[in-house]
Amino acid sequence: MARYTGPVCKLCRREGEKLYLKGARCLSPKCSFERRSYPPGQHGRDAQFRRGRNSDYALQLREKQKARRVYGVLERQFRRYFREALRRPGLTGSNLLSILESRLDNVVYRLGWADSRAHARQLVQHGHIVVNGRRTNIPSYLVRPGDVITVREGSQKRKYFQELRAHIQDRPPAPEWLSFDAAAMKGVVERMPERRDVDIPLNEQLIVEYYSR
Ligand code: SF4
Repeated sequence: MARYTGPVCKLCRREGEKLYLKGARCLSPKCSFERRSYPPGQHGRDAQFRRGRNSDYALQLREKQKARRVYGVLERQFRRYFREALRRPGLTGSNLLSILESRLDNVVYRLGWADSRAHARQLVQHGHIVVNGRRTNIPSYLVRPGDVITVREGSQKRKYFQELRAHIQDRPPAPEWLSFDAAAMKGVVERMPERRDVDIPLNEQLIVEYYSR
């Protein structure tokens, strides 16, 4: 599955906020947004002083782009998720966030096994992650309640996973909808993620309005 391969920090500067796409670097003084918090491009610095109210369309577009960039999803896939969210019962915006949150790469990140969603995606693609006993290398795999996520036995001997296991208590705790057994390096999906489980400041209503134009 295709993914964005361009400069990542530019995305934060474009959105005007930190999206935490690079793991530890995001918390260090090396963070580009800390040093240059204006939009990228030749006129980026001028843009921060430009006055005027953003149009409704601009606000909707920015919110949609932000969600896409946080979860590392390209436009076509994101649109597909939106169509799926429309089909499901309940609020479309909440459904959309629930779908994004249940991607396997996001689950690996939320379990604390990776520094960023991009890193989690790489761990999945490299075949280190097992879902219900089967090696799964598809980052967009959508988990369901009852799914058991573990690290492949062979991979557990690798230095990265051994260090991770030794320092797993330093990682942020797993969200409520996932249970995590640190000793066995095993995560279980207890229920589908809901709106309240998403810890990213996103206004999903603007995204719904964007696609409903
Ligand atoms: Fe964004 Fe992280 Fe880059 Fe800072 S270091 S600009 S938070 S991706």
